[in-house]
Amino acid sequence: MSPSSPAGSSSSSLSIEYTNVLLALPDGPIPSQHPDLNSHCISLIGGYPTFPPLPGSSASGIDFPPKSVNCGICHKPIPLLAQIYCPPEGGENDRTIYVWGCARLKCQKRDGSIRAFRASIRNEEYVRDVEAKRKEIEAEAAAEREKARKNPFTLSSDSQPNGSALFGTAQPLFGAPPSASSPNPFAAPPTSSIDAVPDLSSLTISTPSSSSTTLSAPLPAYQPAQYISTIEEYLPPAEDLEMDSDDEDESEEMKAELQDDTWEKMLPRHVDEVFQGFVRRLESADGGTKQVLRYELGGMPLPYSSFSPLCRKLFPGCDKPLGKEEELDLRSLYNPSWIPPCKKCGSKRAFELQLVPSLISLLKPSTITTTGESDNNSSKETKQSEEERKRELMELAKKVKEGSTVDEDEVNEMEWGTVMVFGCQNDCVGWNEEFVGVEWETTIHL
Ligand SMILES: [Zn+2]
Ligand SMILES: [Zn+2]
Repeated sequence: MSPSSPAGSSSSSLSIEYTNVLLALPDGPIPSQHPDLNSHCISLIGGYPTFPPLPGSSASGIDFPPKSVNCGICHKPIPLLAQIYCPPEGGENDRTIYVWGCARLKCQKRDGSIRAFRASIRNEEYVRDVEAKRKEIEAEAAAEREKARKNPFTLSSDSQPNGSALFGTAQPLFGAPPSASSPNPFAAPPTSSIDAVPDLSSLTISTPSSSSTTLSAPLPAYQPAQYISTIEEYLPPAEDLEMDSDDEDESEEMKAELQDDTWEKMLPRHVDEVFQGFVRRLESADGGTKQVLRYELGGMPLPYSSFSPLCRKLFPGCDKPLGKEEELDLRSLYNPSWIPPCKKCGSKRAFELQLVPSLISLLKPSTITTTGESDNNSSKETKQSEEERKRELMELAKKVKEGSTVDEDEVNEMEWGTVMVFGCQNDCVGWNEEFVGVEWETTIHL
C-alpha cells in the first residue's frame, strides 16, 4: 500500500469508504489453558507472549527467546499489551509483533516505557504453498502448450477464462475469498463471527509450536488474555454522518461528540484539527468504534494531537493555524524518513500498527497479576472501578501533598494518546526490537 494511495488519507477527505486499514476489536477472553495461549500465530491483548522457534541469541546481543521484556525506565519486567500475528500477504514468513508497556506510575509518559519487538520466521508451509502454486501453474501452462501444439483449434473450449491467468492468478494463494481486496494479517480466532474478512488461521495448524516459548508466571500480565477479531475499516460517506447535524455549527457537533461516554475519559482539554480528525476517524468507523488497534503495513499512522512532539516530527507543519476555508492535509505533510532503519538488516522501517486509547480502558492496572491467572476479584472490579479509582486518586493526591514518596511499584492506567510501531519493511527473519513512537496524553491549557 503506497503512501500515496487515496485510501487511508487524511480524515478530512470525506469521500473515503473502505480504507486499507484493518481494525482490531476485542473479542472476548481466551479460556485458561487454551492452546491459543501458546501460539505465536494468534493475535491477542494482554496475557503472555509466545515466541516462534527462532535460533538462539544473536550477534547483536539481543537474547532470544527473552526471559522477560523490561521497561527502559525502571528496568523491571513489564506486561504485554498486544501480540499481533500479521504475516505479509504472499510472503514466506510468519510475522508477529509484540508490544509491551510499563504500568508503573513513575514510568508514565516516559520514552522507553513502551517497547515493541518483531519475530519473523520462515513458514515452510507458506514456502511450500508458494512453490506448489507455482508448480501447478507451470504444469497447467505446459499442458496448455502441449494441447495447443497437438490441436490448436480446441484451445478455446476448455481454457475457459483462465487462459491468460498464468501470472497473478486472480485467486489469492492463501485461500482468501476472491473478493478480498486487502490482506488480513491477523489470525482470527476460530470463534470469530466476522465473515467479511479473509481468515488465515486455518493455515497455521501445522505450524510447529512444540519449540515455541511462552512467557509465564511470575512475570506480570494483564489477565485474562483476550482475543482480537479484525474488520476492514469502513467509513460511511459523510452525508450519512451529518444527517442530523447543523452544517453551520461544526464545533457544536464536535462538542456533542466529545460528550459521548466512550470518549469522555480520553479527551485532552483542548481541541485541535489533528485531534478532531483522530476522534472523527475512530468514531465514524462502521462497526469499529471499539477498535483498540489499527494495522496497515506501509500505511500512514493517524496522529493524535498536533501538540505532541511525535506528531510535529511526523507531520511537520501540522500545528500551523489553518485559514478559514483550509483543510488539514496530513498526507501531504507526512514525513517518516527520519525513522531509524531496521537494526538487523538495514532496511527502511514502515508504519505498521498503532494502539488507540480504547485499549487503555481494556487493560486495567488492577487486572495485572503475576500468577498466570486472573485475579478472582477482577469481575467485581468493573463495578467498583469508578469508586476505587476516585479513592486511589485521592490517596495519591494526599501522598503528593504530604510530600511522601510514591510507592516504587505503584501501577496506574497508561497515559498515552496513541502508540505507533514502525517495523522492518523487508520482514527480515529473526528477532528484533522495532521503533516505537508515542504521543503521550497531555493536558494543555490554552
Ligand atoms: Zn517502568
Ligand atoms: Zn530488517
